[in-house]
Amino acid sequence: MNFKDYIREVPDFPTPGISFKDITPLLEDAEAFRKAGEALMDFVKDLRVDKVVGIESRGFFYAPILAEKLGVGFVPARKPGKLPRKTQRQTYDLEYGSDALEIHAESITPGDRVLIHDDVLATGGTARAICDLVTSLGGEVVQCNFLIELEFLGGRQKLGDVPLRALVSY
Ligand code: IMP
Repeated sequence: MNFKDYIREVPDFPTPGISFKDITPLLEDAEAFRKAGEALMDFVKDLRVDKVVGIESRGFFYAPILAEKLGVGFVPARKPGKLPRKTQRQTYDLEYGSDALEIHAESITPGDRVLIHDDVLATGGTARAICDLVTSLGGEVVQCNFLIELEFLGGRQKLGDVPLRALVSY
């Protein structure tokens, strides 16, 4: 299956000059939705994983599916102020300004082998921040796993040695 057939490119969204990759056609098609999940699972089937971290909000479509198939827990990484218990926060730079993500501090046990999933790797700032967050809690990132890699933005370089897999690249 060519997954790109199910990814819509929306020009000038959310701001002029950006070609937004919209994955909702893939989610809406039962076969494409299932096959993308199976293909993401192929990336991790030989790994030992203790937790799957999904990044708010489009990382939440597949991360829980991967966790369920792997037989491990799902940990949401959320925008600040959404999680009720003690959190660990990581701030990261955007083109203009900064943003932050949090996870419950006790969700990662030191030594946990962690799979990170998000829909799109763009500049890599978001994924880098989550890797640092997991590492700061004593976890080990075993793979960053995406539906889409925007190669021309060079996010892969920002992740350094962390193994990275993506279903499709642009
Ligand atoms: P980065 O931090 O620049 O790598 O941006 C990645 C984050 O922005 C991810 O959480 C994505 O959900 C979101 N993102 C960036 N570009 C797109 C896109 O074209 N489609 C959907 N999400 C995107």
